[in-house]
Amino acid sequence: MASAFQTKKYENFLHFIRSFVPLFSIFMLQGYLLSIDSYTQWLTECNLQVLLWFYFLLMLNERGQVYILTLVATIFFINFNFNRGIHDITPLSLAIAVIGLLVIAVSAFVIQKYSVAIIENKLLFVIAMIVFATSWGLLILPSQELDVLLFIALICKLIVYMTCIHLVNSVGRIQYEALIERINTDFLTQLSSRTAFEKSFDQSFKAAKNKTIQLAFIILDIDNFKLVNDTYGHLIGDAVLKEVSHAIRENIVNYKGAELFRIGGEEFGIILENTDYAEAQKMSLNILKAVNELSVNTDKGTFGVTISIGVAEWHEKDKTKEMFYNRAESYLYFAKNNGKNAVTVDGVIVNR
Ligand code: GH3
Ligand code: MG
Ligand code: MG
Repeated sequence: MASAFQTKKYENFLHFIRSFVPLFSIFMLQGYLLSIDSYTQWLTECNLQVLLWFYFLLMLNERGQVYILTLVATIFFINFNFNRGIHDITPLSLAIAVIGLLVIAVSAFVIQKYSVAIIENKLLFVIAMIVFATSWGLLILPSQELDVLLFIALICKLIVYMTCIHLVNSVGRIQYEALIERINTDFLTQLSSRTAFEKSFDQSFKAAKNKTIQLAFIILDIDNFKLVNDTYGHLIGDAVLKEVSHAIRENIVNYKGAELFRIGGEEFGIILENTDYAEAQKMSLNILKAVNELSVNTDKGTFGVTISIGVAEWHEKDKTKEMFYNRAESYLYFAKNNGKNAVTVDGVIVNR
């Protein structure tokens, strides 16, 4: 877990650097263009700003945000054309400033109210908008100290850009994490999925081989499940899968190193770290009992469920993870071939 956490911190740092570098370049370019004070370059710079905003919009890829940010981008554009050389408050400058501030206020409000999931830190966005408004306000102040004001305004804008990039990054991260979560979760039972299993099994197997953990693997398969589907229908079959998942989960929650997966149709796997055969056996017997106690009520009557379980502890002879998996599976088949509703630990049925 510690290493996963550190990787995450490292990833966040990379995110930050990735955000910062393009922003810093644009910021420097802006400063440079300001110092030259050429109208053509001003325009180029304005276009750059707009391009940058559209880059944000593309990344956000959400209609509401695109609409709002397009407005903000437009205001940016007007702002930069308008700012050029105007330091006195005229009715026009006031009107544009008021409209700009209104747009910003409405954007902030709409995002605050409606954008629940997409922008992680709405407060940050609102603050960024206020800083942006401040930077704008500074430039229309009548002042002799234009250089200082321009500098402060640039700093404000840099903060806004950084915040926006940070927000966009966080949107991407949230969406990415949601996708990964979906891939790693089985839709029906909400258990960890086969994909998650492959990764965990591989990691645990390597750790066992490196002697950093003691590893056991339990494979479970519902008995005569096809018959359940054929007799009571798939919906009842699905309900049984959920009930059995729940019963298994209830029996492993107290084990610290246990992870449960749905690895196939009516097949489950438990990876047990730092647990020996005795504990794995105890857990399996508890699961067998819990599943036996289930009773499923249907229109066609009530029926019970049984499960067969194979338990293997990793041993030097399991040179590959496939060999280890297959050994556990062979114990499961042994239980199946010996009347089902049974737990086979290391090749021996232990519940009779
Ligand atoms: P055994 O005791 O030997 O394990 O026999 P079984 O009938 O349980 O095993 P078999 O492999 O013959 O059948 C498994 C069945 O599980 C077939 C398939 O239709 C059903 N199944 C797989 N996934 C699902 C699912 O998500 N929902 C439902 N309802 N059925 C499923
Ligand atoms: Mg089965
Ligand atoms: Mg099966």
